[in-house]
Amino acid sequence: MENLDIAKYLLIAVIFIPLERLWPRRRNQKILRRLWRVDIAHLVFSGLLIRAGGIMIVVASIALGQEYFPAAWRDFIAGQHFALQVFIILIIADLGFYWVHRLFHQYPSLWRIHAIHHSIEEMDWLAAHRVHPIDQVLTRMATLAPVFFIGFSNEALVAFLFLYKWQALLVHSNINIPFGPFRWIAASPEFHHWHHANEPESLDKNFAGQLPIIDKLFGTAYMPKNCAPNRYGTDTPVPDNYIDQMFFPFRSKNKNQRDQPIISQNDTSGVS
Ligand SMILES: [Zn+2]
Ligand SMILES: [Zn+2]
Repeated sequence: MENLDIAKYLLIAVIFIPLERLWPRRRNQKILRRLWRVDIAHLVFSGLLIRAGGIMIVVASIALGQEYFPAAWRDFIAGQHFALQVFIILIIADLGFYWVHRLFHQYPSLWRIHAIHHSIEEMDWLAAHRVHPIDQVLTRMATLAPVFFIGFSNEALVAFLFLYKWQALLVHSNINIPFGPFRWIAASPEFHHWHHANEPESLDKNFAGQLPIIDKLFGTAYMPKNCAPNRYGTDTPVPDNYIDQMFFPFRSKNKNQRDQPIISQNDTSGVS
């Protein structure tokens, strides 16, 4: 890790740790909770792979866009109001996020990769980093490739990337922020914590990363008022150490193993 990265993550810790102490969703959760070292390993080592994959996706998408997306259309889009561009990017990127995330839950071979992320049992900003690099690279392909292919203005793309990063940290954090009338507009810790709950009624719900309204549209929303998940995690037996987690998706004994129902093609009747 370069000095700049260390400074960035220290800044993130300095912002989130006090907020998680001041307004916790789950009280009595320790800062150095179980498996915090595993999540630091994900942040450092998987982070490098994810970043390299992300850069390749962005470079390839820009090159393909310049080759195949009409220049006149790109200029028209990049000339629109900044806020409108960010809004359109959010919709395109989160539709990609929603569907790739849903596929990760639907197919057993993909679930074994995504189960690493769902092994989080104590939610916080650091746990957001527990994700298999293949999971993140495929997710970034679905979210970033379309928007960089189209080619919005640099300012709008930077604003979107900033929102994407900070919202991912926020929705995993152990912070109790009421979003009030915006609870179906912007993904909150309340919304994404239900996605991580290990409870039958919230299984395969809340796939969106930033816009919960997408789950409303596709019938997979679940965010009951005045209650919170009792427990988080998955019954899939994900190992506890970093190296084993990296190889878990490829170990044959785990094939087709998921102790929870997998969303079916016809089952989109979510509770909302
Ligand atoms: Zn998931
Ligand atoms: Zn998550």
